[in-house]
Amino acid sequence: MNLTANAQAGFLSSFGYAPTGVWSAPGRANLIGEHTDYNNGFVLPFGINFRTYAAVSLRTDRICKVVSEIDSRVYEISLDDPKPTGLDWALYPLGVAWVMRDKATSGFDCYITSDVPIGAGLSSSAAIESSMASALNELWGAGLSRKELALIGQQAENQVVGAPTGIMDQTASMMAQNDAAVLIDCQSLEITVVDLGLSKHDLVVAVIDTQVSHSHAHGGYGSRRTSCEVGAKELGVSSLRELSLSDLPRAQSQLDDETFRRVRHIITENQRVLDTLIALREGHLASLGRLLLESHASMRDDFEISVAELDLAVETAMATGAIGARMTGGGFGGAAIAIIHKDKLAELANNCELAFAKAGFKAPRVFSVTPSEGAKREL
Ligand code: ADP
Ligand code: MG
Repeated sequence: MNLTANAQAGFLSSFGYAPTGVWSAPGRANLIGEHTDYNNGFVLPFGINFRTYAAVSLRTDRICKVVSEIDSRVYEISLDDPKPTGLDWALYPLGVAWVMRDKATSGFDCYITSDVPIGAGLSSSAAIESSMASALNELWGAGLSRKELALIGQQAENQVVGAPTGIMDQTASMMAQNDAAVLIDCQSLEITVVDLGLSKHDLVVAVIDTQVSHSHAHGGYGSRRTSCEVGAKELGVSSLRELSLSDLPRAQSQLDDETFRRVRHIITENQRVLDTLIALREGHLASLGRLLLESHASMRDDFEISVAELDLAVETAMATGAIGARMTGGGFGGAAIAIIHKDKLAELANNCELAFAKAGFKAPRVFSVTPSEGAKREL
């Protein structure tokens, strides 16, 4: 299926004329570094070969209309309206337009199609924001950088959708490159592209989508964020980034048990991201695998954002011979990733299906993802 052609055709049938262009942006998987982004720490995501496509044309008036393949309704705002509310999924693309409104030359029509699984922890939200922001940047002649467009996507999600997410997803979706992960220092927003080198070992990144859906806007994401803010404040730092492993004893003595465990996850996870860079650079697959497992254990036990389905996915991947596995994304559902030999992918899918059925869970979806490039114009 060619999604660029899909987007063009959907635009034509929705609006009765051809779009000026089609822009796409990938979802992302996070290799390691979870909930560290809003603590000014380190994350190591990569773009995936599942993308959202926005077919867009400017209009002559100030109206902005969006249609998605997942919904028959047309949502619209005027550029002169106050901040949009209550528009369901359309708050993501229209939120981007609203945040960029001072760059606007006119309204637009937009049709969206995507193969990024929604709510699976693979950031369909950043994919839709980044494709929209890229389209408007070009059509409005805004001249914004990729980093600026990532910030606009985050602002749309924070201020318009109301989900208090960090900068990782949009940065990955805007800055990703083929066969590589993107180290993001969320304090300086400095980006380093890191070669993954998995293919030379015939390894792939498998995604085990538990099909347990999550919602950042209404889930426990916000309460974890609050715990981190409380922990930082009580320890006298502006963000948990400023702390390292040597601060753990002090944190334990000063904080209540739950806040301490939240803080410990962030401190140890930042260190694991840095250790992962060394493991990748040195080609130490065993260390990489161990770091992924330690990350999962920390999210399960200290940050308490895993669910039984994600734990089972990780266990099953390891029992199938993965070198490492962990839940990815914000948690409370979504997907796990596993690094595994490409010849074992089918066995992994089979084992997950059996294990999930035995546990009485909904059947998971297992597929591999390829590290792919960031937002771009397709047409
Ligand atoms: P994730 O980013 O992990 O997929 P989120 O809850 O952050 O999950 O974002 C998912 C939401 O983004 C959907 O519920 C929907 O509102 C919006 N969205 C994502 N992709 C699309 C799409 N192709 N069409 C319409 N809305 C979408
Ligand atoms: Mg999201």
